[in-house]
Amino acid sequence: MEVYECGSDATAGCQPVPFEGRRKEPALNLTVVEHPLTRHYLTTLRDRATRPELFRETTRRLAYTLIMEATSDLSLRESPIETPLETTSGYHLDRDLVAVAVLRAGLGMLDAVLDLLPHVHVGYAGVQRDEETAEPQAYYTKLPPVDRARVLVLEPMLATGGSLSWATQVIKDHGAVDITALCVVTAPEGAERMEQDHPEVRIVTAALDRDLNDHFYIRPGLGDMGDRLFGTL
Ligand code: URA
Repeated sequence: MEVYECGSDATAGCQPVPFEGRRKEPALNLTVVEHPLTRHYLTTLRDRATRPELFRETTRRLAYTLIMEATSDLSLRESPIETPLETTSGYHLDRDLVAVAVLRAGLGMLDAVLDLLPHVHVGYAGVQRDEETAEPQAYYTKLPPVDRARVLVLEPMLATGGSLSWATQVIKDHGAVDITALCVVTAPEGAERMEQDHPEVRIVTAALDRDLNDHFYIRPGLGDMGDRLFGTL
């Protein structure tokens, strides 16, 4: 796949930029999904003009691409299956799957999880950040059994990493050993915090952005994910 980076003229001076579909960040347990669809959807989300209805739809579409990457190493059980024509090999997922939505922005990715993984069990981790310190304040936790499952934590904006680190600890305290975080946008600060606190947790993200501003928003980012999803701007 080639992407053409263009100036003002859409045809002249465009340079093809090759992508391999994913990029593993050295020294971090982090995969950036660089699939063309992921990049296309992320551009819609970053655009300040995108209204909540399209923002929600696009979050769901982008989430599909992160889920595909986050589940690409799941093991399968082989068993014969009858097609209308003959017997062939069939393959079935043999892992329990749990998704934990970090409230409230994680809800924006939940429909995609329920669509692709209909037998998933769903938990919620309610955490809000203190606007002064950006540290997490927990207000609600409800988890299904997690000890034998691949747990997908839905935390779209990995900013300081405080909320995700807190949610991960709660999930580990319930016995989980196989945890992957799905993040739409990741800040270096959040990725580093996760590497320190939970280095075994894999992060699958659509972008590793530049930094955080003084109010702990990711730059260039996409603004407040919850507000943009639910129209509370
Ligand atoms: N949460 C958001 O919704 N956006 C950010 O940029 C950081 C945290």
